[in-house]
Amino acid sequence: MSRVYNFCSGPAALPEAVLKKAQAEMLDWHGAGVSVMEMSHRSSEFMSILASAKARLARLLDIGDDYDILFVQGGASTLFAQIPANLTNGFDSACYLDTGAWSSKAIKEAKRYTKVDVVGSSKEQNYSTVPDFSTLALDENAAYLHICPNETIGGVEFSDLPETSLPIVADLSSTILSRKIDVSKYGLIYAGAQKNVGPAGVVICIIRKDLLARSADDLPSIWNFAHLAENDSMINTPPTYAIYLADLVFEWLEGQGGVEAIEAVNIRKAQALYDFIDSSKFYSNPVDPAFRSRMNVPFILADDSLGALFIEESEAAGLRTLAGHRSVGGMRASIYNAMPMEGVVALIDFMRAFEKRHG
Ligand code: PMP
Repeated sequence: MSRVYNFCSGPAALPEAVLKKAQAEMLDWHGAGVSVMEMSHRSSEFMSILASAKARLARLLDIGDDYDILFVQGGASTLFAQIPANLTNGFDSACYLDTGAWSSKAIKEAKRYTKVDVVGSSKEQNYSTVPDFSTLALDENAAYLHICPNETIGGVEFSDLPETSLPIVADLSSTILSRKIDVSKYGLIYAGAQKNVGPAGVVICIIRKDLLARSADDLPSIWNFAHLAENDSMINTPPTYAIYLADLVFEWLEGQGGVEAIEAVNIRKAQALYDFIDSSKFYSNPVDPAFRSRMNVPFILADDSLGALFIEESEAAGLRTLAGHRSVGGMRASIYNAMPMEGVVALIDFMRAFEKRHG
């Protein structure tokens, strides 16, 4: 068996220690005589896994008692619709910041439910930067302000939040648990699991409890945040194995020293890669240096015609999935929590050698 360095944007690399633990527990979880996949979601065993995942996440992100943690199904894209369906009840509009492909998709879905005010956009800058927050046209009577602090495709990330009295709703799919955040500044945080949390199939949703009152009774039950909270995310069968894996990833992260410790590693990884790209005339990164993502590093080759060869040779060197998103082309290295520094060093060494051979 040989495992490679996997730079996929998602589903992304998982910590090897987590995969090994899941493998060891696969046939017989803690003496239950069955795998987690085979046990009732209402069994005391699974209930203990769910409780553990919630408790660990609450510790890792320092989530206060005024928030509920939900495990939702359907991917982060479902939340693009589920959020306005729940939170715009009683309001005439919602504010959205447009910083890239994922913000745009969230805007498109929200328009089915409410009037959307796009309060700022970097579209004209080809989504290579983030609008100046002091220029945002915020309507303080709107239902909420939606932001996407890490645009996975564009490789654009911001950590400051706009000044507003509105509940901030944030799509943290590709940045959750990679850096410290102050949860109390958000109304709702959501994140598809398949980058920094676990396998695809579950979405983390952290919601301030007062916002649950907005969910109208005529919503489909499994879409209703208030019902989900009342039923501990178990209105129907939850994605049990994905939640179990998430618990193992949270346990691993605690063992790494938590979010602050992994953030320090993430800073070093991103710095090394951007420093190399900036030092080269062959590779370039198109993003405003103030807003470069620590998780998703897009780069382009000076000679675009070498792209296919770059992919072929990198795969042969054990560096997997470096092609950029199909909508933008170029290359992209996703370096989430599970990517060790050694993987980034291997990538830089390969890029340097490739430039020497073909540059
Ligand atoms: N938001 C962001 C920031 C993403 O990166 C993605 C997936 N790459 C999504 C939403 C959509 O996630 P899903 O495929 O789980 O619907």
